[in-house]
Amino acid sequence: MTYSLRCTRCGRNYDDNGRRLRCECGGMLDLQFEPSFRPGMEADRPYDLWRYREALPVRDDVVTMGEGCTPLLPVTLDRRVLLVKQEQLFPTGSFKDRGAAVLMTRLHELGIERVVEDSSGNAGCAVAAYAAHAGIACDIYVPEATSPTKTAQIETYGATLHRIPGTREDTALEALEASVTCVYASHVYNPWFLQGTKTFAYEVAEQLGWTSPDTLVLPAGNGTLLLGAYIGFTELARAGIVSHVPRIIAVQAAACAPLAGAFASDMDEPVETCASHTAAEGIAIVTPARGSQVLAAVRASGGSFVTVSEQEIVTSLRDCCRGGWFIEPTSAAVIAGARRYARTAAPGETIVTAFTGHGLKAAGKISELIGSL
Ligand SMILES: *Cc1c(COP(=O)(O)O)cnc(C)c1O
Ligand SMILES: [Zn+2]
Repeated sequence: MTYSLRCTRCGRNYDDNGRRLRCECGGMLDLQFEPSFRPGMEADRPYDLWRYREALPVRDDVVTMGEGCTPLLPVTLDRRVLLVKQEQLFPTGSFKDRGAAVLMTRLHELGIERVVEDSSGNAGCAVAAYAAHAGIACDIYVPEATSPTKTAQIETYGATLHRIPGTREDTALEALEASVTCVYASHVYNPWFLQGTKTFAYEVAEQLGWTSPDTLVLPAGNGTLLLGAYIGFTELARAGIVSHVPRIIAVQAAACAPLAGAFASDMDEPVETCASHTAAEGIAIVTPARGSQVLAAVRASGGSFVTVSEQEIVTSLRDCCRGGWFIEPTSAAVIAGARRYARTAAPGETIVTAFTGHGLKAAGKISELIGSL
């Protein structure tokens, strides 16, 4: 199938061949696709994210490990019920599998044999796993400081790991250079990744009887889950399947909050911030490439940003673990944001959030952080 990519800045169109990263003008590209999914079509299908296949721009021959349909469970914190998607239960331990499964399916369809990706950890794990499953060779670039469990996981899948000194941005530049000779399977640039993460919205809507919750509380690092959820709920609302797009509350660590800063001062692009260290490594993104889209989505949904302190992150981590939920520190930052938001929410408001990544990815770090309280 041919699909068209459209520049979010100037509107120029390109045929998708898996190789174009950005528009000539530097703008990010979105995929043009109109889903034909209607509730009922999924009824007799397996419980994975492919049950909404009419909403996904792929053929039947998909790269899958049975991912998706994570439980949506009530979790009580501060005497308030949050509905929490158990995204830590994916094959590689984070929601990034949604994006990786759909992106790798597309690249496999195009006959791509080698990819590169860069990541602060979990996207690298997901791309490495799905590349392995599809028989695609893979190079993953990570910052030197990435958790050893995540780098071990990446290497175990058979990917070639490159540890890059310097910042997260230095790593991205290395990957970009390497991608000249092969395909850059970027979770940030490649819009097929968002076609995968949008299944979060389809699942939540189905789990709520094909309705929208009032509010979503989601992380904003690069915003891949947030933008996917926004795309998914926008499609569902446009098709008349749900009545509205939920309000999106985006969570950043106070130590690294370029988007929250921009939102607060009514700007359309992320603001340059001098980030300090945060335990939430997965959302410590100083220059999010789709930042202006994240800001636009949060505004269009009637939502806002919350920032959380290191203290709140560690307290939420401890409280979740004491409740039996083993999640990684970045994931605890999202829950800290949901708790902060819930304090001001209307009684009876339905709040959906997510455990974004599994604790086993950072067990040592977690016990160290909790021990420091
Ligand atoms: C990637 C990731 C995030 C942040 O997601 P973005 O798409 O970058 O906003 C949050 N939590 C975990 C566990 C992640 O792996
Ligand atoms: Zn353009």
